[in-house]
Amino acid sequence: MSLCVHCKQTGRLAGGTHLLPSGSWCCDEHWRQQLGIPKSQPKGETAVAKKPDETTIAAIRADAAAGMSTEQIRVKRHVSWPTAKKYAGNGLKHAKKNTPTRSAAANGEITLKATPALLDGIWNSLSLEKKAELLTKLA
Ligand SMILES: [Zn+2]
Repeated sequence: MSLCVHCKQTGRLAGGTHLLPSGSWCCDEHWRQQLGIPKSQPKGETAVAKKPDETTIAAIRADAAAGMSTEQIRVKRHVSWPTAKKYAGNGLKHAKKNTPTRSAAANGEITLKATPALLDGIWNSLSLEKKAELLTKLA
């Protein structure tokens, strides 16, 4: 078997598997390199756990900010429950926990008196992202 001419130049000894028009041999790696073909990937072995793309993550966060439950987001976005939970966070829960008055209804509708202290409490419990979202809505 002839050796790859390109490998030979680098001191490597690799068998040539492709015959070049010039009559010299070339290994598969160099042959692909020359033609600009990406390395062959074993098929059927795609990544196991698919991470949602940025668009999906952003959509999940937007849904969560809009008051959707993790379950609703999971169904809507076709993601696993842990994924929905992970990116949706549990802002509502946090807000409840840190809010002095417990006037938030179970359905997510909030009927409470907006006292400055209360607003401060809510505001401080929000993540930076949520704050930014809120400011965008108010603007
Ligand atoms: Zn080579």
